[in-house]
Amino acid sequence: MSQSSGQARVIRFFEQVPLAAAVLVTLLAIGTLIEWYVGMDPVTGLYPGGVVMLPLSCVAFACAAIALALAATKERPFALRVASIVLACIVMLIAAIQFASWLAGRDLGLDLLMARDQLVRAPWSPPGRMALNTLVGIFLIAAGIISLHIDDRTGRASSHWVGLIGGTLGFLGLVGYAFGVSGLYSVGPYSGMAVSSAASLFVLGIGIVFARRSSGIPKLLVDPGAAGTVARRLVPAAVSVPFLLGWLRLVGEKSGWYDTPFGVSIYVVATVAIFLWLVNWSAHMAYESDRVREELLSGEQRAREAAEGANTAKSNFLAVMSHELRTPLSAIIGYEELLADGITGPVNDAQKHQLGRMKASAQHLLHLIDQILSYSRVDAGREIVQAEDIDANEVAHDAATLVEPLAREKGLPLEVVPIGYPLAMCTDSGKVRQILVNLLSNAVKFTPAGRVTLVVQHEGPIVRYVVRDTGIGIAEEHRDQIFDAFWQVEQPSTRRVGGTGLGLSVTRRLARLLGGDVIVTSAVGQGSAFVVSLPLELPPRAGNGEPPGVIA
Ligand code: ADP
Repeated sequence: MSQSSGQARVIRFFEQVPLAAAVLVTLLAIGTLIEWYVGMDPVTGLYPGGVVMLPLSCVAFACAAIALALAATKERPFALRVASIVLACIVMLIAAIQFASWLAGRDLGLDLLMARDQLVRAPWSPPGRMALNTLVGIFLIAAGIISLHIDDRTGRASSHWVGLIGGTLGFLGLVGYAFGVSGLYSVGPYSGMAVSSAASLFVLGIGIVFARRSSGIPKLLVDPGAAGTVARRLVPAAVSVPFLLGWLRLVGEKSGWYDTPFGVSIYVVATVAIFLWLVNWSAHMAYESDRVREELLSGEQRAREAAEGANTAKSNFLAVMSHELRTPLSAIIGYEELLADGITGPVNDAQKHQLGRMKASAQHLLHLIDQILSYSRVDAGREIVQAEDIDANEVAHDAATLVEPLAREKGLPLEVVPIGYPLAMCTDSGKVRQILVNLLSNAVKFTPAGRVTLVVQHEGPIVRYVVRDTGIGIAEEHRDQIFDAFWQVEQPSTRRVGGTGLGLSVTRRLARLLGGDVIVTSAVGQGSAFVVSLPLELPPRAGNGEPPGVIA
């Protein structure tokens, strides 16, 4: 049995407790009531010589049990809540009337209305009046049920404690019956809590306590961890062991097998032994769970160190590889330019055309390698920020100039809208340019027709670059993922236009390195707008590898 299915079973079991308690008490109360109607003799009937649950108590317990069942249902519609509260109020009213008749010293004879003939023959005095401890218990149980409908902290605490006290009155009665101590269940010689009333109070008290499993003992009992396991072992033992041992001791003493000092000694030794064994069992389990947790923790630590090591190795590998690839590629582009310029000999038009295509491919490859190089530097925290004084509009023009040939090739107008005045910034101009080139190249790449615009905006200590296009747009579910490394929207055009899926990841990391951020808004089929917000001044910690804060 797996931990989670075992846990689910435990929770299901405890969920059923209030309903099971309600059904049990309803059957008991209605069964006794039927017996009264069929003419039970209270002295020689179901409980010979004992105290019987009176007809009015039967009604009160049945109402309380049904009220509890309604209060404990999972979804409590308004009508069920009202019905539950009304039933609980009826129970409180019965208890209050009985209490008043105790105080007044007069019997209202409500029970006599139901089973007069049998009751007048009973030895109780006066006949048909609920015992004082029963009426206090049932009153508390009804109050506990009403508190179940109050969903704040006070409601939770009062249902727990009132239910617990009502249940304890019943438990006292049961202990009194089990041990033959009449003082625990009777008030005066002829008035006492019936054994069935004691059992009902006890069961309803448990039902109320378990109707809320988010606090107190029930919370511990359903806990999935070590606390739950210990509670599930110790709570039943704490209730049943002293009870059973005490009962056994008494039976032995009454039967004359041993005297009181011997009985007490055996009781003490047995209790100590059983609890020592339980404590040892629970402590062993806690010890084991601690050991397993420590093993898991150190395994996780080792895995994290290995993953960090692997990540650093990957970044170093990418950096070295990109650098090594860049050097020969620069030479290829240089020699291609020499050839195209005809320095090494005449070239015809066809050769010029082929050399042009060679150069375009080499430059594309160089761009991809540069992106990988940037990514690995930022990822390894090795990117250095160099602050210098620049003009916000000028960087925008520089970036647009670099992307202009690409846009021209596609027949797309690329427009820069500067702020109407020079705006000084103290930041890393190379990185701002790289950010804008990445966004502008993407805008051109993913715009089949229309235009691409770069708008510069100034607001207090922040400058905003808005790169807007009229391209294919980005679906909402992809808008976060596009900033992940090596992630591309799966679409035929991506394959056609190529790319590494690193551009936006590098762009965002660079923007954060400069103390800013990048966000995107887009509509599929209509275009996208990437907004880069940057502070005019580099924040103090910029460039030391930690993101210095974000400006959205
Ligand atoms: P690359 O462009 O190298 O694939 P990026 O990280 O720059 O990688 O972009 C990731 C993905 O985000 C692209 O593959 C594309 O699907 C989507 N994307 C980026 N910019 C735009 C844009 N302006 N319009 C539509 N989609 C875009």
